Amino acid sequence: MREYKLVVLGSGGVGKSALEVWLVGHLPDIVPCIAMEVDGQQCMLEILDTAGTEQFTAMRDLYMKNGQGFALVYSITAQSTFNDLQDLREQILRVKDTEDVPMILVGNKCDLDEERVVGKEQGQNLARQWNNCAFLESSAKSKINVNEIFYDLVRQINRK
Ligand code: GDP
Ligand code: MG
Repeated sequence: MREYKLVVLGSGGVGKSALEVWLVGHLPDIVPCIAMEVDGQQCMLEILDTAGTEQFTAMRDLYMKNGQGFALVYSITAQSTFNDLQDLREQILRVKDTEDVPMILVGNKCDLDEERVVGKEQGQNLARQWNNCAFLESSAKSKINVNEIFYDLVRQINRK
């Protein structure tokens, strides 16, 4: 079975753990593994969740180097979580030493539309600036587009 190392990045509170709970079906350990079928192919996903604010840059560089696909998550209810992602993307590209990294930009908490401060078009525009990166709005609460985040990353990795 092919294995995929995926990294979920974003500021504290954006819903990284909540997205993984839906996918994995239980509270994830530090490195949860899940078998899932994508386009008829069984895959084993290893998902690492991190706020990306580790003090030890060597650690951060290591998981960025090992990660094959990256979900960069913000909350549509907190502008600062959106602003934080540019730096994370740049770190990933620096560590990978290429622009061609499987990546998806995720605006989580889309169920909280009445508290929205980051417009959908802001997300779309940022994704376009990021070399036409994939973009989804999701809700871990309402289970909208949760699996799709991980499907999309697996497909991008397969295309490489
Ligand atoms: P993490 O720090 O990124 O791992 O964030 P958590 O997964 O711990 O989520 C932080 C808080 O946001 C928790 O109270 C979650 O229940 C809540 N939360 C996460 N995702 C969603 C979502 O899609 N919608 C709503 N309404 N709340 C969410
Ligand atoms: Mg968490």
